Amino acid sequence: MIVVLKKGISEEESERLKELLRSENYMVKEIQGVEETVLGVVGTIRKDFRHFETLPGVAKVIPISKPYKLVSRELHPEPSVIQVGDVAIGGDRLVVIAGPCAVEERKRTMEIARWVRRCGAVLFRGGAFKPRTSPYSFQGLGEEGLRILAEVREETGLGVVTEMTSPSQADLMVKYVDVVQIGARNMQNFELLKCVGRIGKPVLLKRGLSATIEEWLMSAEYILSEGNERVILCERGIRTFERHTRNTLDLTAVPVVKELTHLPVIIDPSHASGHWKYVIPLAKAAVAVGADGLLVEVHPEPEKAISDGLQSLKPEKFYQLMEDLTFLERAVRKEGRIAP
Ligand code: PEP
Ligand code: MN
Repeated sequence: MIVVLKKGISEEESERLKELLRSENYMVKEIQGVEETVLGVVGTIRKDFRHFETLPGVAKVIPISKPYKLVSRELHPEPSVIQVGDVAIGGDRLVVIAGPCAVEERKRTMEIARWVRRCGAVLFRGGAFKPRTSPYSFQGLGEEGLRILAEVREETGLGVVTEMTSPSQADLMVKYVDVVQIGARNMQNFELLKCVGRIGKPVLLKRGLSATIEEWLMSAEYILSEGNERVILCERGIRTFERHTRNTLDLTAVPVVKELTHLPVIIDPSHASGHWKYVIPLAKAAVAVGADGLLVEVHPEPEKAISDGLQSLKPEKFYQLMEDLTFLERAVRKEGRIAP
């Protein structure tokens, strides 16, 4: 529920009220607006709402109508901007995250990182723990892959994004990574969600293969309910009856999610389409529809890539994409520039 505080409430009175609510096991989040200050009060609410209106300092109480609370716009009307080092996700500029599907070896990874940076990407992606459909497929380099990512950051200054597949990797993520990715297959792995909520690093939460928008937002709610508000949603295509492409990109999710939540939303055109040929048109559509950023797979020799080669852009294609986006951004956004 949203507890609207009385105008002119003293600091002391407001602290007393928050203390009282916390002592009843509610999570309390203060939001100071221009007109009024409100408290977002989340937890199992057993009492009648009118009870809360009788508490000192309370002007009125508004129930939050959605099952997700902390991620909802009702509680947090302003869009959230997630800061990763110098990079602001959800601000005025489009954020492009690029890199290979998996970290394969040091030299190649470094080469891709230098290239995507030169083209204007501001964060680097690469999987070290790969959730594969087959147990016989390459599972990633593990900690060695994370070490390579840390070297990428050291050399290029790009923050690194990588997938976490188990709570047992938490310490490694804290040590090496800037943004923790939760993959589509793990979107409803609730123990993993609680774990990334506690780690406190920004989280890139992919939409599950067959997840509704509400289920996706409930997963984000898990992370925020553990105290981590830095969540970036990533639409990566959903399963439909259409088999021509790997998945079907749900572009509608962007304006819908922006209406329902304050969290930034980015698009992954690589996993959405499964083929490099469609990545550029889908990326442009994502920008036009108002996505805050893109997650794009890039590989210099896609035919040799250990995973997702077919959907990876060659460096020159990635360059072309970034050129096209610069023009498109100018038409779509105020600032007309790609971050930072
Ligand atoms: C990835 O980003 O490489 C990946 C495995 O993505 P998803 O979880 O969306 O399939
Ligand atoms: Mn991939």
